[in-house]
Amino acid sequence: MASNPATILGVPRPAWATDDVVMLQDMATRFMTEEILPHYEDFEKAEIFDRSTWEKAGAAGLLCASMPEEYGGSGGTYAHESAIIEAIGHVGVDGFGIPLHNSIVAPYIQHYGSEEQKQRWLPKLASGELIGAIAMTEPGAGSDLQGVKTSARKDGNHYVLNGSKTFITNGQLANLIVVVTKTDPSAGAKGTSLIVVETDDADGFERGRNLDKVGLKSNDTSELFFNEVRVPTANLLGHEEGLGFVQLMQQLPQERLQIGGAAIAMIERALAVTIDYVKERKAFGKAVIEFQNTQFKLAELKTEATVGRTFYNFCVGEHVEGRLTPELASMAKYWLSDLQGKIVDECLQLHGGYGYMNEYPIARMFRDARVQRIYGGTNEIMKLLIARSL
Ligand SMILES: Cc1cc2nc3c(=O)[nH]c(=O)nc-3n(C[C@H](O)[C@H](O)[C@H](O)COP(=O)(O)OP(=O)(O)OC[C@H]3O[C@@H](n4cnc5c(N)ncnc54)[C@H](O)[C@@H]3O)c2cc1C
Repeated sequence: MASNPATILGVPRPAWATDDVVMLQDMATRFMTEEILPHYEDFEKAEIFDRSTWEKAGAAGLLCASMPEEYGGSGGTYAHESAIIEAIGHVGVDGFGIPLHNSIVAPYIQHYGSEEQKQRWLPKLASGELIGAIAMTEPGAGSDLQGVKTSARKDGNHYVLNGSKTFITNGQLANLIVVVTKTDPSAGAKGTSLIVVETDDADGFERGRNLDKVGLKSNDTSELFFNEVRVPTANLLGHEEGLGFVQLMQQLPQERLQIGGAAIAMIERALAVTIDYVKERKAFGKAVIEFQNTQFKLAELKTEATVGRTFYNFCVGEHVEGRLTPELASMAKYWLSDLQGKIVDECLQLHGGYGYMNEYPIARMFRDARVQRIYGGTNEIMKLLIARSL
């Protein structure tokens, strides 16, 4: 029987993994296995998911799991979002952009939206009628978000947006985009505001290329262009302009923890498929697992993965209790994604030449893992943030 990524490490269940979190993870794993996996190869080739899959995820209760029930969510916590992220990683459908939709985009609306905005957008995000994206990065501003140039000029009861964004996850499918803009370009970080663009009727909004990436092929990471796009001033997030940078700083830790969650889930899957492989594969008349090198290597990897899982579980516990600090979130993002890169690479090596063949899951993991050290703030930026606490 194939090894199960969810139990491969044997780390005891943390307190935050309550019965309903475990049930959600089981349900999400079934959904990913039955509804996504059979089509995943097609999505990878098309470099995009289809919208109906998002709606199915909404109907199954997998969108906005941590949003309040009064806005169509399931009323859970980050622990529930973690259950979904882990299911995605364990099944190996890593390009499905729902973690960003659920635990990055929706929280901006939950925390900073007016009552009217929450009622208007959250139920549709929960059903999949709206697909969310967050547009921070620009061709000239990635790590240094203060360098954002997209402007939002006030004109009566509208903002007029001009600028371009790149590398935007869910960029082709998204129809609700939180855009990082400058409402006062002369005021630096204090002139930054988050404005929600409903793209369906937005004149002057254009989607650029669906970018050709090394991995996460099935995600529609894209360029976006705003040319005199008129957006009602009522779409500003927060009670006044200029709060965007603070809002980003408050929400980025959860995004970073989520990247750590995706990392540990893929690590567990990489170990599971590799242990199965080396038990099957023969060389010099014996199974590859019988070589002492294989055993020592896997013993090291399992130890490191166990340390990583324990650390991730600790960080989620801190977050659920409202104690996740920016430095701890940065540590989780940087250290777990570095560990993911290392473990996936070593696991590929244990597959020999087959590991380099795309038909073996470890090959796709190798491609998909690489970006984890880059997005959500590069690991170098994570170290700068950690160093601030020294
Ligand atoms: C697949 C994918 C999906 C993405 N999804 C989104 C999304 O949904 N929304 C969004 O807004 N963005 C998204 N991004 C963008 C991502 O967050 C940025 O690529 C990332 O923040 C780095 O910015 P950059 O690419 O401009 O690199 P740069 O900022 O140009 O960095 C280049 C190099 O310089 C280093 N560096 C920069 N500044 C410093 C410093 N002060 N000290 C030391 N080293 C430094 C970096 O670590 C890096 O190694 C995505 C990117 C990818 C690849």
